[in-house]
Amino acid sequence: MNDLERFFGVSLAALLAAGCALTSHAVQPSSLGTVRSGAELEAAVDQPGPLTVETVVSTDWAVDRGGLINLDSPKAKAAGLTEGDEPIEVYFHAIRHPTQGLFIIDTGVEVAMRDRPDEAALMQSAVVKRYLHPEKMKFTAPLGEWLRAKGEKLQGVLFTHLHTDHLSGLRDVPRGTPLYNGPGEAHERALVNFFLSDVVDSAFEGQAPLSEWQFAADPSGQFAGVIDVFGDGSLWAISVPGHTSGSTAYLARTEAGPVLFTGDTCHTRWGWENGVEPGGFTADHAKNLEALEKLRALAARHPSMQVRLGHQALAPAAPAAQAAPSAPAAAP
Ligand SMILES: [Zn+2]
Repeated sequence: MNDLERFFGVSLAALLAAGCALTSHAVQPSSLGTVRSGAELEAAVDQPGPLTVETVVSTDWAVDRGGLINLDSPKAKAAGLTEGDEPIEVYFHAIRHPTQGLFIIDTGVEVAMRDRPDEAALMQSAVVKRYLHPEKMKFTAPLGEWLRAKGEKLQGVLFTHLHTDHLSGLRDVPRGTPLYNGPGEAHERALVNFFLSDVVDSAFEGQAPLSEWQFAADPSGQFAGVIDVFGDGSLWAISVPGHTSGSTAYLARTEAGPVLFTGDTCHTRWGWENGVEPGGFTADHAKNLEALEKLRALAARHPSMQVRLGHQALAPAAPAAQAAPSAPAAAP
């Protein structure tokens, strides 16, 4: 042991190898949701449903294309995609159920990010702050402002995963609101968490324990797990590990047809249209690609399905599509 290791009373090598948890925030099994199969999901999905969905662009942003798209993939190389800023959006999606009320998928950004940036959860780590480039954010609808204007009680937050850009509006979520995410991710140990845990703990401070979806093996073998969130077949959580270990997609049945929320299993329009997984922001490329292909195949089997990606609009007619380029190569 060197002096530093003696001081901490632990082998630094062992500490680094073990990493640390993403957050010390409490987790618990979700009491909401019923395990179903992929076959049951597909049997229900094309029937009109009772939900309404609204995708809200909380801020425009730009990040490295190499994080969003695997530029080493043969398709990306063939398309000539290179490193550089890619314009993206940070969303929250409002889901309204006639009796269960208002839920949101992910959280956009908090009001403080625009009005008092030094107090925002994302700014509580010098390392994260340096990589964040908040000067590239153009705020359009911080979550707290949107919630106040609507005046509806928020019944729950459904996370697609726990990367910081999906927790960045959590401070604006009323305390005590139930929070849901895929299993295992919150307390997973990783080296990178040494830099992230301050920010994530800050975002969760004072909030309810995180309820983890209790996925079970899908008997139809289509997905890693499928849960009927309200038990009435209106809203589904689909386990899609890869981008992160707990990554979860959601599918909402509306009057106008099914709407699929991919989370960051696919960030970009180009990635979805070409079947290329994210780049450096993804944890497990093989699993992410497998999950992406399963979601693309699901959408292809149900042509009426609208698809809402992690950070760009897919169809020009979708909300805020005017900010999305037709292809990353055309971006500045
Ligand atoms: Zn993201």
